[in-house]
Amino acid sequence: MIRTPYEEKSRFIRLLGVTKTYPQPDKYDIRVLDDITLDIRAGEFIALLGPSGSGKSTLLRIITGLSRPSYGTVLYRERPVMGPNPQAAMVFQSFALYPWLTILQNVELGLVAKGIERSRRRDKSLGLLDLIGLSGYEDAFPKELSGGMRQRVGFARALAVDPELLCMDEPFSALDFLTAENLRSELLDLWLKSKIPTETILMVTHGIEEAVFMADRIVILSKNPARIVADFSVPLPYPRNRKSPQFIELVDYVYKVVTGRNDEQEAISQKTLDKAPAPSQKTRLAPIPYGHISMLSGLLELVADRGNRDDLYHLGSELFLEVDDLLPVTETAELFHLAEVREGDLVLTDLGKQFAQGEVTERKRIIREQLKDVSLFNLIERVLQNKANHAMPKEFFNEILEEHFSVKEAERQLTTAINWGRFTEFFHYDPDTEMLYLSTDQQIVDEHFDSHKKNE
Ligand code: ADP
Ligand code: MG
Repeated sequence: MIRTPYEEKSRFIRLLGVTKTYPQPDKYDIRVLDDITLDIRAGEFIALLGPSGSGKSTLLRIITGLSRPSYGTVLYRERPVMGPNPQAAMVFQSFALYPWLTILQNVELGLVAKGIERSRRRDKSLGLLDLIGLSGYEDAFPKELSGGMRQRVGFARALAVDPELLCMDEPFSALDFLTAENLRSELLDLWLKSKIPTETILMVTHGIEEAVFMADRIVILSKNPARIVADFSVPLPYPRNRKSPQFIELVDYVYKVVTGRNDEQEAISQKTLDKAPAPSQKTRLAPIPYGHISMLSGLLELVADRGNRDDLYHLGSELFLEVDDLLPVTETAELFHLAEVREGDLVLTDLGKQFAQGEVTERKRIIREQLKDVSLFNLIERVLQNKANHAMPKEFFNEILEEHFSVKEAERQLTTAINWGRFTEFFHYDPDTEMLYLSTDQQIVDEHFDSHKKNE
């Protein structure tokens, strides 16, 4: 079979203004997806790329009908999706196999649900196990298989129902490098040579290289809330060579889109969040990126060694960091005015050079100075200064943050703030008592500990 030319690909799935909010008890609703409009044509292999927590899994669940949008519509072949779509199958990062069923029974599951009769079910499943390289393992149990083989079962189970749409949620992230690479190539081979009837594939990933290696179209999502920031086709012929200049150039381009978007978005959210009152008249806290100070120091030293400027893509691959891990650190560097992202390069500012050359005390001083402009730190400082004993339980701040962010996000914000606060001695934190306190007056700190001991 020859793959249908792009222009003739029919309208398959349409997302119209898909928005998803999650209610928070007694708090603001959290808006995860914002006004997503997207046409998916039959025969496309789309990679959905975005930072962790941006809403990729949520979007995939909405497309397959496992979850409903709060606003907007999903059309499948021009009909609204009202419940789980039987033409779609899903492969999960965690494999999601039933441990008490054999490999064959796990693969047969989807066919049981479709009411297919026993002997046809068996033949179909055995055929798929063969296709996916697992013949001989029919009667084994998942725990007897390696991670790579378990994910093969995940693929066989999804493909057994001959889905029109195959959805994959970070299917290779839990596998070691070589296993993942083999499975990627095999899946591509099945799809390109039409060895499986499935034509349309939607893969969620946070790996830029993975997206460029596999997909013929890449859609990039932003975070908080997720919006589509880029949507383009990948013009490279298959099989793709990761070392070819075109491949490297495209990966670099995607890095630029992802990082460039972050500059702009950070600037906008910082402005609107700091100045505009939220619906209930409260001032909203600007989120801080999750950069860990030791990672920040390491990254800036590395860039300083390279002549104060280096390509983000090179830095990432050198440090074995995914975009997920690298971006929070570069965003932190930018927040502290230590570096700027320019055309896919991380460039140290004068302050950044000073930081990279400086001793620990100098580094503490520099970041401490920058923290004065961060709204979360203003809040913490204000609260601690106004308390007579200059101390406050972590839980207090957690509750404030939960007014502004989801429970999980609040926790990450506070963990990051405590990491920064402790490093710079902006405030102190005692993990045993889970108290934040100012260190201006040693006597007060002692009193705090004495009173804590008395309470025990
Ligand atoms: P991704 O797959 O891109 O990592 P998810 O779609 O899993 O992101 O989640 C996006 C955001 O929505 C996260 O902040 C997550 O905490 C939040 N979220 C996901 N599911 C729920 C839920 N059922 N209730 C509340 N918040 C949720
Ligand atoms: Mg996810």
